Amino acid sequence: MTQDKFDTLRIHAGYKPEENQFASSVPIYQTAAFGLSNTEVANQIVAGQQPGRFDYSRDGNPTVHVYEQRIAALEGGIDAVAVGSGMSAISFAIFNVAEGGGRIIAPTNIYGSTLDEFRNFFPKYGINFDFVDEVNDFDRIKSLIQDDTKAIYVESVANPSTEIADIETLATIAHEAGIPLIVDNTFPTPYLLRPFEYGADIVVYSSTKGINGHGNTLSGLVVDHGQFDWSSGKFPQFTEEEFNLGDEEQGIHESFYSKFGAAAFIKRIRMKYVRLLGSVLGPIDAYFVMLGLETISERLTKQVASTTAIAKFLAANEHVERVYYSGIEADNPLVPKYFPKGVGSVLSFELKGDEKNIAKLIGNVKIFSYIPNIGDAKSLIVNPTRTTHREIPAEIRQKHAMNNQIIRLSIGLEDIDDLIGDLDQALAKAFE
Ligand code: PLP
Repeated sequence: MTQDKFDTLRIHAGYKPEENQFASSVPIYQTAAFGLSNTEVANQIVAGQQPGRFDYSRDGNPTVHVYEQRIAALEGGIDAVAVGSGMSAISFAIFNVAEGGGRIIAPTNIYGSTLDEFRNFFPKYGINFDFVDEVNDFDRIKSLIQDDTKAIYVESVANPSTEIADIETLATIAHEAGIPLIVDNTFPTPYLLRPFEYGADIVVYSSTKGINGHGNTLSGLVVDHGQFDWSSGKFPQFTEEEFNLGDEEQGIHESFYSKFGAAAFIKRIRMKYVRLLGSVLGPIDAYFVMLGLETISERLTKQVASTTAIAKFLAANEHVERVYYSGIEADNPLVPKYFPKGVGSVLSFELKGDEKNIAKLIGNVKIFSYIPNIGDAKSLIVNPTRTTHREIPAEIRQKHAMNNQIIRLSIGLEDIDDLIGDLDQALAKAFE
């Protein structure tokens, strides 16, 4: 049997209609808990020996399960876990890889809440970050690797500059040091980039964005390639004995690695973090994301074309100082290598003038909505330093040319002439 391709998997993977009353649409199992049949079956369900049976929706839910399996299939991963937001996905991935303490290398040019979490939250739990200002500064990254470094973390396409991470080289550097590469692939979505194909080990998503595509639901994902060796001794949390995995009465002792092998990473997030900290994705939310996912290819194809046209329009506009959209950088070798179908639906630009002009521009757009989100069917406009990236100190922002004159656009599915016309009139009014 040939492997189904992306456009088939996004609609069918993980779902068997014949096991669900032949329902065409994935049913929403809106229930907190599930019957256990009898005590013998109950023992098997809680031990994970009854595939397709569930006990409690914090541990797993059939609707959410379809979504997880669909994403794992799309990414070419061994398993995936869906959670209540992109920030949960990032938090759980970081805790899971560095539980008990350690260091992680990450760029400063990332989403505001992520950088805030890395700088100010994780260090309180013994997980410290070594930052690089340039994601592809390989020599510096190599020089930062220490005995207790547990991972390299990057955004495949940075928010909001759209700088591209050279995943293949970064994965090689990580693997030479015996550590995994974790990639936030939110901006491109799996339609434009599948990081596992370039050696990444763990992918995290805010599926609130382009995977859903309609701005109606918060959700996140952690996906595992299933290729990383967690038994090297650097990650004792995977090899130490785990009471819940064994059987006290039968004297069976297991660790996440001994029980699940290559699939240990997601199993551990599920049992340790989703089960104990919560941040569960609800079945209705999973349904909404799957609905959006069905049209991801068509949406992204149109959005990339519109974003490219808008980037070119802005680059030629007298009121625009500079456009940040790597998709129009003709001399950037990372674009054809990683993004033959385009870089995504987000761009940013620096407006001339001062913040009064920014306020007038935002105040005069008619089709663009002033909303701090991306990946919606609607086109959105935001001033990042005052909203999405306000947690980042000026000292770091300056290194990435992120000043108060930067505007970020997320391009939706409206008519491209209307979108350009809207920006054109608002730019003119901003300088009247
Ligand atoms: N990662 C990136 C690149 C983002 O842009 C965002 C949100 O904007 C997140 C993660 C966090 O996702 P969520 O808002 O779903 O928690």
